[in-house]
Amino acid sequence: MNYKSTRGHDVPQTFSEILLGGLAPDGGLYLPQQYPRVSADELESWRKLSYADLAYEILARFCDDIPADDLRALTRKTYTPEVYSNARTGDNTADITPLRKLGDESGAPLYLLGLSNGPTLAFKDMAMQLLGNLFEYALARAGQELNILGATSGDTGSAAEYAMRGKRGIRVFMLSPHRKMSAFQTAQMFSLQDPNIFNLAVQGVFDDCQDIVKAVSNDLEFKSRQKIGTVNSINWARVVAQVVYYFKGWLLATDGPGQKVSFCVPSGNFGNVCAGHIARMMGLPIDKLVVATNENDVLDEFFRTGIYRVRKAAETYHTSSPSMDISKASNFERFIFDLLGQDAGKLAQLFRDVDTKGGFDLSGTPDYDRIRQFGFVSGRSTHDDRVATIRDLSSRYGITIDTHTADGVKVAREHLSAGTPMVVLETALPAKFADTIREALGREPERPAAFEGIEALPQRFEVMPADAAQVKAYIARHTGL
Ligand SMILES: *Cc1c(COP(=O)(O)O)cnc(C)c1O
Repeated sequence: MNYKSTRGHDVPQTFSEILLGGLAPDGGLYLPQQYPRVSADELESWRKLSYADLAYEILARFCDDIPADDLRALTRKTYTPEVYSNARTGDNTADITPLRKLGDESGAPLYLLGLSNGPTLAFKDMAMQLLGNLFEYALARAGQELNILGATSGDTGSAAEYAMRGKRGIRVFMLSPHRKMSAFQTAQMFSLQDPNIFNLAVQGVFDDCQDIVKAVSNDLEFKSRQKIGTVNSINWARVVAQVVYYFKGWLLATDGPGQKVSFCVPSGNFGNVCAGHIARMMGLPIDKLVVATNENDVLDEFFRTGIYRVRKAAETYHTSSPSMDISKASNFERFIFDLLGQDAGKLAQLFRDVDTKGGFDLSGTPDYDRIRQFGFVSGRSTHDDRVATIRDLSSRYGITIDTHTADGVKVAREHLSAGTPMVVLETALPAKFADTIREALGREPERPAAFEGIEALPQRFEVMPADAAQVKAYIARHTGL
């Protein structure tokens, strides 16, 4: 299984070669040369597999340069009930991603797929925990080390730190805006005492943090001497790790071959729902893939009209589902590549248009018509919708959901069809977004036991001015490279 770039660069790469890299040399994203197919019989034979062994079966189809025994050991080390232990009472943690039925609505069974029981209470743990183990393995094999540099406003940074803590050969330098994250998120990150984790609290806003990461990455000499890498959402291994839970969700929601299931996915950078698209390309019987956005509705606009119009940073709203506050969807290019019948020349032109004209227009073209073949539909949700949906699920089903999942449930309800299970991906637990839960329900969200009192733990972080030169000096001092 080799990988190619969406923009046509044709030096094939193996899974391990692209594991630690970001973009392809031509600025495109990596995709496998062909999607592996899974037959209905194979799918049936997977019903009794543990999550870890299901992950092995799927990963092995995308990765042929890690020995089978090693890959199986890595998935078994990653997907254990001890790592994914924050489920609600009554949920089966042995499933890793428990499926909970809410009820029947408009004749359709409505489910939540719990993806947020990992160490940081958001679905990003599902892929990031595997990435930590894959990185450690690949670096040891190559005798290399890696210094991960990132910027976070919350979810991604903590998922990366919890995945990389204590890993040999890896250090994490994570920039966050000083005093701008919630007390809970700050405590989650800053209470880590592992010597390979460095929290840099930048005196500025999130955009300043991102600018510093860009400035450091553009210094190619520094980047290569300091072995700087990233773990952002375009990383292929992250996407493929997310494919696994679409299979698991399908297996849990069906009892025989060929039955169709729809998935609704709260979306920002399009990484999560892109994994659903890939599962469908592999032969998983998916009916609809429902893309749910918040007020930042770039993606909803595209699926409704065929017009992709990226927003400027100043046009991006700060919402109560902040992990979906994006102006431009970094994984979208992978899906558009398939939509264009994998025409790399045409794809490259469209994304040049994104850079020069701020978007592209596929309305009225055969490419836009193909969206229906791929089963995509969409919808958008606002703060009032989130509050109303959180209230409704609490009173109707006695379950508290977070704000992102609420966007998903709101939009899922607009696309139900009788007899077809609708699975909403639960992308975070409500404990992370207490303000909106308080607004909706007038009480605090329940907190998994492991998180009681984390705000009182000692914190380890360094305050820094918003200055790339000082961040570079800090990194060099701590890597000794
Ligand atoms: C990251 C995130 C999302 C968006 O996922 P994408 O893969 O970027 O589309 C949704 N909800 C939560 C809670 C997240 O952390």
